[in-house]
This record gives sequence, C-alpha cells and structure tokens, in this order.
Amino acid sequence: MVNVQESPKVKREVLEVSSEIMSEAGQFLRRNGFIEILPVIISPITDPLNHSVLDASINYYDGQYSLTKSMIFHKQLAVRVFPKIFTFSPNIRLETEDKKSTGRHLIEFTQLDLEVKDAKRDDILTLVENLFVEVFKDLDKKFGKIIRSTNPHFSIPKIPFERVRYLEALEKYGSDFEAILSKQATEPFWLIDIPIEEREFYDRLDGDGKVLADMDLIYPYGFGEAISGGEREHEYEKILYRMSLKGNDQKSLKWYLDEVKKGIPPSAGCGIGIERLTRFVCNLRHVSEARLFAKVPGSLSI
Ligand code: AMP
Ligand code: MG
Repeated sequence: MVNVQESPKVKREVLEVSSEIMSEAGQFLRRNGFIEILPVIISPITDPLNHSVLDASINYYDGQYSLTKSMIFHKQLAVRVFPKIFTFSPNIRLETEDKKSTGRHLIEFTQLDLEVKDAKRDDILTLVENLFVEVFKDLDKKFGKIIRSTNPHFSIPKIPFERVRYLEALEKYGSDFEAILSKQATEPFWLIDIPIEEREFYDRLDGDGKVLADMDLIYPYGFGEAISGGEREHEYEKILYRMSLKGNDQKSLKWYLDEVKKGIPPSAGCGIGIERLTRFVCNLRHVSEARLFAKVPGSLSI
C-alpha cells in the first residue's frame, strides 16, 4: 500500500475503502427512501454528551455558537420535513488526552447520522444490519483482495446480530464487559437497553423507568463501539424531566426546547462512526489511520 501522509501513516487504499463505505451506505439509504441533508457545523444548540469535553464554542455578535458534537437535535427537527433523513456530520469533540490511545477517538470525526420518524429501536437495528451487509458485500466485490491482505477476519456480517442486554452483560462480566465481549466476539453484536445514567437525556426511557429504548453496536475482535442510537423522547414535559435528572441547563438548550414545544414527532435513529468503520474493515491500529488530517486527542495537527 502507498502512504499518502506520514505520521500517522495513512494508506491510499484505506481512503478508497472509506470513500466506498460512504458511497455505498448513502446509496443503500437512498434506495430505502432516505434523503440526504446537509450537515450543520455551528449552532447555538448541540449535544450535551454524557462525558465532558473541552469547550468548542465561538462568540458571534451578542451570542455564541457551538461546534457540532452531534446532530441529534437537528435530526429530530429534520424529520418534521422528511420522514427518513441522513447526513455525513462532521463532529468536533475536544476530547481530553487520556483518550489518545484508545484507538477509537479523534477530536474531529464523521458520523453517518440517520433518523426515522415514527420508528422503533428495532426498526433501526434491522436497517443497520441490512446496511452493513450491503456495504460489506460491495467492499468484498471491489476491494476484497486488498482488504484481506491486512484483515484476515474480513467477512460479510451474519444477520440478525446477537442482542445482548446491557445489565445482564454487566452482571455476568463486570464493569469491563464491553471490552471483554468485544474481544471474544467474531461478529458484530448489539448492546441494548442501556441504563438511564449511561446516556444523555434525549433517548427514550422504556418500561420500568431504568433503561432506555436504545442501543450500541459493538465490533468484534476488540474493536469496541461502532454505533450509538435509540428511540428519542419527543414530549416536552418528559424532556424537561429527563434534563432535570441529568442537570442539563435549560437555558443553553432554549432553541431546542422552543421547537419541542411547537411539536416534534417520535423518531429513532443512530450515528455510525465512519473512521471507526473504516478502521474495523481495514484492521487498523488507530482511527487516525482511517482518514486524512486526523486529529488525535491531546495534540495539534493539520
Ligand atoms: P455517540 O452517540 O457519542 O456514541 O457517537 C456516535 C458514534 O460516533 C460512535 O458510536 C462512534 O462510532 C463515533 N464516535 C464518537 N466519538 C468519537 C470520537 N471521539 N472519535 C471517533 N469516532 C467517534
Ligand atoms: Mg456511544
């Protein structure tokens, strides 16, 4: 393979695979009735996340814009216009240096972010499983030989993926269950029903009020988290309640709350990390090898 960027070394073929992933995933979604919307880079509202990152905001006249950490709120508003939307959303999360060597974190990355009006979590699971099969089949056809030269495990994922309940896995394997299960697995699997304290306020609280109607997709062979998503809260009072449980500041999300008050539909969706998917397919050590101009937590680069 030819290096196109020293330090870290990014292979030309890896970039071709990444480009093909985006192309085929987009075509799959279009074939399934989705429309692509343009990404939002700055907004007065952005994802509060469930972990802290350094501030990334810009003063503008008498207000402030945040650089987009995810497009969750914009997706919820966009499904008022089109019932099935997707976007390749560039996200800025100024992660701290301790995330430098996880292999999975950049401070600028891209999510294939999708949302479906009136959908349930399980609709999204099925959609993503089919998307993975189509993308992997296409990659096999066009790049199979080159991918297998660096990834002996490359294969078309078998669907449906196994569904593992978060709390059951926690009880069986302890707090490190995700890493343990990811290392043991030879196929991607879903972690479902994630406890309320592990996630942001916007994923819908299910049944007994302890777990959410949401999920993560976990890659096998130790590659870890691939996707997060779920059903969303859409009722104003419930959203306020969930924000109060998390201690989210209502003032900073005023623009969002004003729209919720006018009415947003129920929806479900997810975000697929493109660099992580490329890393998994090409069996790369670190996501910084999965794109040009990668920015690793804790240092500056072009
Ligand atoms: P989240 O909803 O925060 O889990 O983000 C959705 C997806 O984006 C994750 O499952 C990852 O695939 C990807 N992602 C999140 N944070 C990062 C990061 N710092 N670097 C690279 N990819 C990320
Ligand atoms: Mg996540």
